[in-house]
Amino acid sequence: MRIGVLGAGQLGRMLALAGYPLANTFVFYDLSGNPSAGLGEIIIDRDQVYLDDFLSRVDRVTYEFEHLPVEVAEKIAATKPVHPTPRSLQICQNREAEKTLFGELGIPTPEWRMAESAEALQTAAESLGCPVVAKSNTEGYDGKGQAVLRNPEEAAQAWANIGHKRLMVEKFVEFSRELSVIAVRGEDGQVAVYPMAENVHHEGILRYSIAPAPGLLPDVTDEARRYIQTLLNELNYVGVLTLELFETRSGLVANEMAPRVHNSGHWTIEGALTSQFENHIRAVTGQPLGDTSPRGVSCMVNIIGEHGQTRRILELPYAHLHLYDKAERPGRKLGHVNILADNYDELVWRVRNCAEFLPGSPEFNSSLTQGLKSDATDPTYKR
Ligand code: AMP
Repeated sequence: MRIGVLGAGQLGRMLALAGYPLANTFVFYDLSGNPSAGLGEIIIDRDQVYLDDFLSRVDRVTYEFEHLPVEVAEKIAATKPVHPTPRSLQICQNREAEKTLFGELGIPTPEWRMAESAEALQTAAESLGCPVVAKSNTEGYDGKGQAVLRNPEEAAQAWANIGHKRLMVEKFVEFSRELSVIAVRGEDGQVAVYPMAENVHHEGILRYSIAPAPGLLPDVTDEARRYIQTLLNELNYVGVLTLELFETRSGLVANEMAPRVHNSGHWTIEGALTSQFENHIRAVTGQPLGDTSPRGVSCMVNIIGEHGQTRRILELPYAHLHLYDKAERPGRKLGHVNILADNYDELVWRVRNCAEFLPGSPEFNSSLTQGLKSDATDPTYKR
């Protein structure tokens, strides 16, 4: 099947890498004018004049990037099947719509208010009780367009720094860790869920994910499955959906969802029987879904800003290196390494070895290995 992908970054690249073995071909449609990691044919179209040309070359359309005009997705949906639906895209672009939907479906969220001025931000911070997190309602990702207010008097400064007209103000969640659940729904409504990943961010960017997340209690896993299944059915969703969650003493709290394959699911390339990328392609092309079971335990470490010693990483028999063919730039995701092991002890040792060859501050690398050590290898570990 000929698959059109909206966006031309590393997620699209990995979708294609998983889709070609199933005899699919890919055309990427890039509205940014700056495709970063596309693979094969890319149509660059900042002014949307080649949309018909793009559509004439594809049978089905999907996305690898959700920050594109919903009108474009709707226009496409009038001619070709688009998975997931433009409604999913619309909801994920708007925090208010997203949190409202979560609330309607009984998925817990942080308490929130909307604010349209610095004064309203201050009032919201007062009524919720600080600390709060203020986030631009639209166009925010990877922690951009956000500020934490430690007291309501910081509202004017935070408002000026964020520079958006409409903010969501959330109560700061005292989470024990961040988790994500990734699931895929087929055209026939069949659903398959991956084991949850534990995700560690630094400066708003995902640094590493461990999957299956260590020490998960069965009722927490059930809760997450229930939430994502509810969302998939509500949105009549086809493809991979990601739900980011906070784990707290009183259960899971939803942060946000992404209508696509997700960085916290890159471990599935070698770490699961079927990767998130292959399963997305299977779903979008109407094929049966693949098994989402893990092969042992995995750690995915992002390569950010600089490539590091990739030759040394390639020498490690348990490390799988994925590079996106992108130029080095501070804060940019350039690739990732998937490290597999049979148990968490072995995983810690392997990640520690591999981390020596990865760029990043020494503090970060030591927190990475310490984090794994204290969390994953402690037999009494429970959150
Ligand atoms: P987001 O762009 O909403 O995914 O937020 C980026 C990161 O900020 C999250 O991964 C969390 O680490 C942190 N964060 C966002 N919202 C909250 C919140 N309500 N309470 C605590 N931390 C948060």
